[in-house]
Amino acid sequence: MELKCAIQTYDWGKFGMDSIVSALMKSANADFIVDEQKTYAELWMGTHENGPSYLKGTDISLQKYIEENTEVLGSDVVQIFGSNLPFLFKVLSINKALSIQVHPNKEKAIELHKLYSNIYKDPNHKPELAIALSPFEALCGFRPIDEIRDYLNNIPELLAVVGENNINRLFQATDSTINAALQQCFHSLMTCDSNEVTRQLRNLIDRLYNIDDSYRQWIKADLLKRLHADYPGDVGCFTIYFFNYIIMQPGEAIYIGPNVPHAYLSGDCIECMACSDNVVRAGLTPKPKDIPTLIQILSFECESPSARKLQPSREDVFTEVFRPPVSEFAVAKITLPPGRPFYNLKPRNSASILLLVSGKAEISSQIFSRGSVLFIPANNEVEIKVLCGCHPMLMFQAFPNI
Ligand SMILES: [Zn+2]
Repeated sequence: MELKCAIQTYDWGKFGMDSIVSALMKSANADFIVDEQKTYAELWMGTHENGPSYLKGTDISLQKYIEENTEVLGSDVVQIFGSNLPFLFKVLSINKALSIQVHPNKEKAIELHKLYSNIYKDPNHKPELAIALSPFEALCGFRPIDEIRDYLNNIPELLAVVGENNINRLFQATDSTINAALQQCFHSLMTCDSNEVTRQLRNLIDRLYNIDDSYRQWIKADLLKRLHADYPGDVGCFTIYFFNYIIMQPGEAIYIGPNVPHAYLSGDCIECMACSDNVVRAGLTPKPKDIPTLIQILSFECESPSARKLQPSREDVFTEVFRPPVSEFAVAKITLPPGRPFYNLKPRNSASILLLVSGKAEISSQIFSRGSVLFIPANNEVEIKVLCGCHPMLMFQAFPNI
């Protein structure tokens, strides 16, 4: 069943046809008109009420269809998640950084939702998986502690906002006190007077003009200037010295579990997550930040960038599957090389959503072009006939990880 999906035009998205979101929409929907002045940030595939998918050519939502035909989900899914698709599948096309954020774990999400239901709208966690479609930049998790110490020790503007006493404590910390000392430093940064943050960022930016290449690289001058141009005076600009800066190549993925700070900075990606909207923000945003909750839930675990990457397992010669440690979702990446005339999708014991990112296919005597999104009921056998065999065909399939 082909789906008609919703898009989100958040201001951090890429403009007009530069966005893969509008390019995919335009290719699969002849009546879709692209406005070059508009930003096309996200394509949503699923049943989330803020952007539900519909069965194409009808006014029946996927949610309604599933509720009336729960067997399409697969019996295990119904048993675990009820009559709901447990994941939201997305394509993101990013021009400027999204806010730095953290998502609470399930227990905390329930607690926050009970206390502040107007801010924390779901009693659910929001683990995320991002697979790069183009070179993709992100901040994710705290850096190894030696890197953080090095920055704190050698950037006077950062020292001014974090505080000398806090930094001294971090340098004297032992294995058992290091997390508390790092928490204190980060808390101090997040609660620093905003005028002082603005002033120190200005000082730092001003001295980044005549510097040599190795210093420029170490201090991440280009990244800092870019973030500061988009979010002048925002305390989030300083967090590049606390968080891992990751560049992913197409096909590489990161998994972001509960309490791990992260921000997507630029590029296109496939994203899959549990159905939830709970976000605690830490910077690079004009939206309000809930600092007490942020500090309370943040994971101060220091790890290298490679620890954040999720390696896929190979299912067959054409298919790799990314399986995060949660039951709500997994994502298969299917690449058919030029000249491969057909492919039988592996039947799944649960419903799935298939997105055609490049190529043209015939499935059940219907032609599907790039950007087509299909809902596949549990245990269905799908034979894909490749129509244009001169380029590789790329597809992503999301399904519950059970
Ligand atoms: Zn997130």
